[in-house]
Amino acid sequence: MQARIAVLPGDGIGPEVTREGVKVLQRVAELFGHDFAFEEAMVGGCAIDAAGTPLTDETLEMCRRCDAILLGAVGGPKWSDPNAPVRPEQGLLRLRKAFDLFANLRPVKLSPFLRASSPLRDDLLDGVDLLVVRELTGGLYFGPMHHEGEGRDEQAYDTMLYHAWEVERVVRLACNLAKGRRGWLTSVDKANVLESSRLWRRVTERVMREMETEVELEHLLVDACAMHLLRRPADFDVIVTANLFGDILTDEASMLAGSLGLLPSASIGEGTFGLYEPVHGSAPDIAGQGVANPLATILSAAMLLRHSLGLEAEAQVVEQAVESTLEAGYRTADLGPGRHVSTEEMGRAVVERISV
Ligand code: NAD
Repeated sequence: MQARIAVLPGDGIGPEVTREGVKVLQRVAELFGHDFAFEEAMVGGCAIDAAGTPLTDETLEMCRRCDAILLGAVGGPKWSDPNAPVRPEQGLLRLRKAFDLFANLRPVKLSPFLRASSPLRDDLLDGVDLLVVRELTGGLYFGPMHHEGEGRDEQAYDTMLYHAWEVERVVRLACNLAKGRRGWLTSVDKANVLESSRLWRRVTERVMREMETEVELEHLLVDACAMHLLRRPADFDVIVTANLFGDILTDEASMLAGSLGLLPSASIGEGTFGLYEPVHGSAPDIAGQGVANPLATILSAAMLLRHSLGLEAEAQVVEQAVESTLEAGYRTADLGPGRHVSTEEMGRAVVERISV
């Protein structure tokens, strides 16, 4: 197959981990006889420095010519002034809006070889395999926001605004994903307090009725969900939730797997186009040292193969290569004790294990 992939490495460790993701895709192309073309451009802080904006129109157009985007991470102390007129994250938000990528999929699966890396007690970790579907283009991060005044009168607000159609499409997508898994959907909201959550809950129930599905639905309040994720993580299958709640819960859930450096994500919409990126940020504290864990990006590349290119077998081969790399004892520093290797050595170990 022929595919065109936009590569946006971004800031901090972004370029280091993205490089390894691309090597993995190149190896897959070579092994399975595909023709992948890569087009690279800047996003985030480096793009602000170079062009005054975190995402230029040219980069957006380049992405439109592609089948999928592989992204590293954006941001860093240099661009973190909250009063700055442009910020790196605006590049990400613009990409999500431009391609209507309304659902962010974040799978959390514990590798049997990394149980010791999780801060959770071993007996709680059996069978942890969950998928968080976070609504990505609505809610608190996109509703009306305002800031005014000075001194004690200074005030600001953000608005958690949801339309029924926004809830409907993400719940439908999450339900379809649950069908292909264990058939259990948890919708997370704050319906005891928030009007937008009561809408979320009503629409979710209606969509599930209309879909006449075997998938079982439960509702959980977000505070209770935060607790249950630590108390009984293996009970969850698919979680669907609003933008803000999903942002927070997925960082918490990442600890089940042991490290942020392991968690991939896919941002998708109605079609096959998607943006694939590790859940972690640009990790300025370790940037440039060659020690970042590239596995989250490599696993994001596997999601790209699966969702945007329809290459399920190839995606599985990559995931298996990651598992056997971990089984062989390779560890970046964030994964705790083991055979410590650099970003590049970890990437190479995975590439060497990609075979049919
Ligand atoms: P972070 O995820 O960058 O780092 C948190 C901690 O995890 C750090 O100690 C870091 O060293 C470690 N870590 C993260 N990824 C790792 C990896 N692959 N290998 C090994 N260790 C890893 O979060 P932060 O420190 O809160 O944010 C740093 C910057 O990243 C900020 O500017 C923030 O705005 C940005 N950020 C960007 C994204 C994104 O691009 N999607 C997401 C989150 C944060």
